[in-house]
Amino acid sequence: MISEAKSYAPRLLPLRLPRVCVAVSASDAAELVGKAEAVARDNSFIELRLDHIPRPGLALAKVKHFLEAHPGLTVIATCRRAANGGKFRGSIASQLEVLGKAAAIGCQLVDVELQTALKCKSERLQKLRASAGMVLSFHDFRGTKKLDETLQKMRAIPADYYKVVSTATTLSDNVAMMQFLGREGDIQSLVGVCMGEQGVISRVLGLRAGSVFTFAASGAGEETAPGQISAQELRSVYRIEQVDAATRVYGVAGDPIGHSLSPLIMNAAFRRENVNAVYLKLHAKALKDLINCVRDIPIHGLSITMPYKEAILPYLDNTDSHTTKIGACNTVVRAQDGKLYGFNTDTSGVVRPLERRLSALQGAKILVLGAGGAARAAVFGLAERGAEVFILNRSMEPAKKLARRAHARSLKRADLKKHVFDVIINATPIGMGNSRETPLQEKEINARYVFDMIYDPFETRLLHLAKQRGAQIIPGIEMFVHQAARQFEIWTGKPAPQDEMLQVVMLAIQERAAKAAAAKKTDGR
Ligand code: NAP
Repeated sequence: MISEAKSYAPRLLPLRLPRVCVAVSASDAAELVGKAEAVARDNSFIELRLDHIPRPGLALAKVKHFLEAHPGLTVIATCRRAANGGKFRGSIASQLEVLGKAAAIGCQLVDVELQTALKCKSERLQKLRASAGMVLSFHDFRGTKKLDETLQKMRAIPADYYKVVSTATTLSDNVAMMQFLGREGDIQSLVGVCMGEQGVISRVLGLRAGSVFTFAASGAGEETAPGQISAQELRSVYRIEQVDAATRVYGVAGDPIGHSLSPLIMNAAFRRENVNAVYLKLHAKALKDLINCVRDIPIHGLSITMPYKEAILPYLDNTDSHTTKIGACNTVVRAQDGKLYGFNTDTSGVVRPLERRLSALQGAKILVLGAGGAARAAVFGLAERGAEVFILNRSMEPAKKLARRAHARSLKRADLKKHVFDVIINATPIGMGNSRETPLQEKEINARYVFDMIYDPFETRLLHLAKQRGAQIIPGIEMFVHQAARQFEIWTGKPAPQDEMLQVVMLAIQERAAKAAAAKKTDGR
């Protein structure tokens, strides 16, 4: 007979568990242990995805050595079956056998899917639970539905942690998950998160809503679930360990939003100025969805980007006169009474860098290329400060309309040669990313300064040509930092740490460029 003491697996108290569990996966045992070694240097809680290894049972000898060398580590062994979203192709019996062995070699927790648990005898699960804590898990790879019903079903099976993972297809799905965690998290030890690009809110705010811990990837490209954020990013960008009930939530909303550098710059500013706030990437496929989240989470402020700068206006309770005039809003503040106020800081992004360089904007002759949202912010802001503004746009009509409203002048491309400008500003997307296009040819650049709103790449072809023409250049990164700094000031009432903000964006752009160059090199092989 097994003695009571021997059959008792010491239970890990939820409060003692680290808040971030780093998921580690690999294609063979040596790689798994190698990766786990690296992760264990900075993390004390990991999940080993045994199901990603072709014959996981055979990997356990190596895992045992690893566990013996890391006695302080808490480890979840997962061997999810293919039918339930994992990669293990064996039977339920073999799955439980692998998990049983993993427990025997020292994994303190084992993950068992609800579907597996429902199909096996309770004594079998009890036996497993006698040697390790059990995380009973359920994954919905399609949506976020019936969370309470799912948990009710799960509760019939005794477990140490109940893990409910859904897929966010809207931002509001995060709200559903967090409300669920809030309702149920006090009753049992619950882990909840939404997968998918739109699930980022739950990944960062789930802990404060009631999730005992959350999952992270071991690095970029190492995700074991869609939308997983790396542990390093969760800690250094989103400061997950510090997010608490008092943390104010901000975000950048747009569609697409994947490449936005705003979370990097804003979270750096909050960290530098000791503001208890976190700034998230909000992939809003519909404005209504975004507005619901603003109220339900609640979100204290938003940066608005393409394609919503104009469409957001009807949803706002008020805008300042400048924003009304421009007809585009890039900054939203949610006041204490819940009302939404709109501002436009793109103007500051254009005006501030020019004020630093020109003795006066009054009387300066400035050409703006484009007549879209960013161009409007530039044209109105510069015209208000007394500059003589010219607009050149692909379609003549929007240029003429803007010129009429802002007391500026529209210009035909053929007439460019008649003018010499103090500044030329590119407010079109021509030259973005890897494109080598330019909105003006070298001979058309007749200006002392050329300012490109595009900030990735750091130096566009237009700026390159401008330098060759002897003009001084103003890269779009300056606009990006100044418009973000003004947002920070509006939200916090504090001066923004602009140098720090500039540094983090510069670094990120350099890293992106280096990665792109390396990828190009690899492709070329
Ligand atoms: P938008 O509202 O879509 O306006 C785009 C403008 O560019 C329109 O006037 C459009 O002309 C013109 N355009 C687009 N594609 C063109 C092409 N292939 N050839 C010629 N003209 C073209 O965009 P936006 O919000 O104003 O943004 C414009 C640029 O500024 C983007 O690159 C954006 O990333 C950048 N930006 C940077 C910052 C920053 O912080 N650095 C801030 C805001 C915006 P039509 O009227 O003929 O369509």
